Amino acid sequence: MNPIYLDHNATTPVDPLVLEAMLPYWKETFGNASSLHLFGLAAKKGMDEARANVASHLGCEPREVIFTSGATEADNHVLLGAYEATKKKGNHIVISAIEHPAILNTAERLEKLGASVTRVGVDRRGVVDAEAVRAALRDDTILVSIMYVNNETGAIQPIPEIGKIVKERGIQFHTDAVQAGGKLGLRVDELGVDFMSLSGHKIYGPKGVGVLYVRRGSFIRPLLTGGHHEFNRRAGTENVAGFVGFATAFALAHERRAADEARIAQIRDALQARLRALVPHIYVTAGEAPRVANTLNVLFHFVEGEGLLMRLSLNHGIAISSGSACTSGSLEPSHVLAAMGISKQLGNSGVRISLGRGNSMAEVETIAQALAKEVATLRAMSPLYDAYERGKMKDEDRVAYETWSTAQ
Ligand code: PLP
Repeated sequence: MNPIYLDHNATTPVDPLVLEAMLPYWKETFGNASSLHLFGLAAKKGMDEARANVASHLGCEPREVIFTSGATEADNHVLLGAYEATKKKGNHIVISAIEHPAILNTAERLEKLGASVTRVGVDRRGVVDAEAVRAALRDDTILVSIMYVNNETGAIQPIPEIGKIVKERGIQFHTDAVQAGGKLGLRVDELGVDFMSLSGHKIYGPKGVGVLYVRRGSFIRPLLTGGHHEFNRRAGTENVAGFVGFATAFALAHERRAADEARIAQIRDALQARLRALVPHIYVTAGEAPRVANTLNVLFHFVEGEGLLMRLSLNHGIAISSGSACTSGSLEPSHVLAAMGISKQLGNSGVRISLGRGNSMAEVETIAQALAKEVATLRAMSPLYDAYERGKMKDEDRVAYETWSTAQ
C-alpha cells in the first residue's frame, strides 16, 4: 500500500532543490551572519541574497522582509507589536472570525491587555464581505488583520478590496497569507497591505522559518528584543540555512505556480466530482466561493470526521485532516465552519483534503473509493443515519442536514 499524502495545508515536504540550497549553510558556510570575519561575511551574503530574492517576489525593498521562526511568530509580532506602537491612537482591532489560532488567540490576549476586538463574520461560502470590514471600522481602529486564504476551506478573501477600504481610513492592514503562498500573487502593493505573514513549510520549504513583511514607515515594535538583527525588528542569531531554504522555496513556488495550479485544480475537481457521484449526503464547503486549487473541504453527513481520518490512515494509508492541523485532536468543532453557520454536529463531519505537487490524477479513484467505503462503514454504525433513513430524525436536524447538502 503506497501512502497517499493529502494534508498539504498542514505541511509540505521539503523540495530537493530547497534542501540542496540549504546544505552548505549547515556545513562550510556556517558562520554567524553578524560576524565581521570571512565566515560571517559568507553567511551574510547568503542571507542578503535570500532576502533580496523574497523581496523581488513581494515587490518590496529587502529591508521590508523580516525573517522569523514561522507565521505564528509573524502573526504574534504584528498584533502585539502594532498594538504596542499605536495604542495611544486607539485600541480597536478588527479581525475575521475565521482566522488561524495564531491570530485568534493573540487577539484574545490583546483583549486581556485592554484592546477592543471586532470579529467580522463570513457568509455561508466562508468569505468575508469587504463592506462588513468597512462597517466595523471606528475612529479608534488601529489595525485590521484578515487572512488571504482560509486554511480549512481554501476560500480566498477579498484582500485588495479590503486593503483599499482600510487605507482610505489610514489604518494599518495585515494579512496572514500563509495559505496563499505558491497559490496566489503576493505583490504587497497590489494587495494594499502594510504587514504580511508567510510560512516556509507550507511552500515546500523548511519548518521553523517564516517571513513578516513590514512596510517601510509603519508603526510596529519588535516582539523579540536583544541584538540588532533584522534591522532591529527581530533579535536572535539568524537562521541563515532556513532563510536560504525559504527564499529558494518561495522562488520555486513562483516559477511553478501556474503549472502547479492547473494540474492540481484538475485533480481536485475530478476528486470532488467522484465523491459527489459515489457518496450521497455530502456538502463541499466553500464550493461556491473563490477557492485555491488544492483544497477540498467536505462534510460527510452522519460520520465523525476524526473517525474517518483514522480509518483512512489505518486501512488505506491515506492522510487527510479533520479541520485544521492546529485544532485536530482538540475535539472542538471547527470555528471556521461554525462561522459559516454550520452546526456543531454537522461541522464534526467535516474533513479537509489538501492536495500538493506529489499528487496525481491516478490517485483519484483510490481516494474516492476509500472514502466511499469508510463513510459507508461508519454510517452503518451511526444511530443518526439510521434515524434519518427511517424518517425518524427530528425535523430541525433533518432540515440542517438538507440545508447543507450538495443536492440543493
Ligand atoms: N496561519 C495560517 C493560515 C496557517 O495555516 C498556519 C499553519 O497552520 C499558521 C498561520 C502558522 O504557521 P507556522 O506553522 O509557520 O507557525
